[in-house]
Amino acid sequence: MRILVVEDERALREGLKDTLERASYAVDVAESAEDAAEIMDIAPFDLVLLDVNLPGEDGISLLKGWRREKNDAPVILLTARDGWREKVAGMDAGADDYITKPFHQEELLARVRAQLRRAGGQKEASLRFGSLEIDTAAQRVFVDGQDVRLTAHEYRILNYLAHNAGRVMSKNQIMDHVHDLDSEALSNGTEVLISRIRRKIGRERIETVRGLGYRFDADHPAAA
Ligand code: CA
Repeated sequence: MRILVVEDERALREGLKDTLERASYAVDVAESAEDAAEIMDIAPFDLVLLDVNLPGEDGISLLKGWRREKNDAPVILLTARDGWREKVAGMDAGADDYITKPFHQEELLARVRAQLRRAGGQKEASLRFGSLEIDTAAQRVFVDGQDVRLTAHEYRILNYLAHNAGRVMSKNQIMDHVHDLDSEALSNGTEVLISRIRRKIGRERIETVRGLGYRFDADHPAAA
């Protein structure tokens, strides 16, 4: 899953990138609304953390623009402690949630997970598909209750496919959502990584759709 952080305060921006990367997200950063608009044009995001008070165009006006353009990625606002008016304006402009500065990393990560789950139609904290469980808080995967060891890249791909269960995702889409602009190119292609994931969680879980991509099969009999 790929996240955009829009925050002009450098220490907070870098801290958020670090926290989110350690939680296995691909993360790009922008320090102004202008910067954010440019990145949005070239990359797809699963979620945006948006500071309300930015120099120049503010966060709420930026958000209104996205919603007008039918960009429906979940948005969590970063607001000031006494900023009840901006919270109201932000929610009315189409924000999905907000968090008040200063906040604890754990609270932020829980809100991020909740929004990503909701966007994928899931309500539970763990993604469960029969005998397969993905604990997105602990970043652990279990099959029949047994811990399955995935590399960071394998986990990111599985998590992305599982959040989009039942939908065909192209190789480019997968790569776009598990990498950020400063990720190093993968030495292994998507196919190799998918085949490794299949070996670990069961072949039948990820279907190859010829010429189109891959589909995570949530309803496979093994999942009943
Ligand atoms: Ca700010």
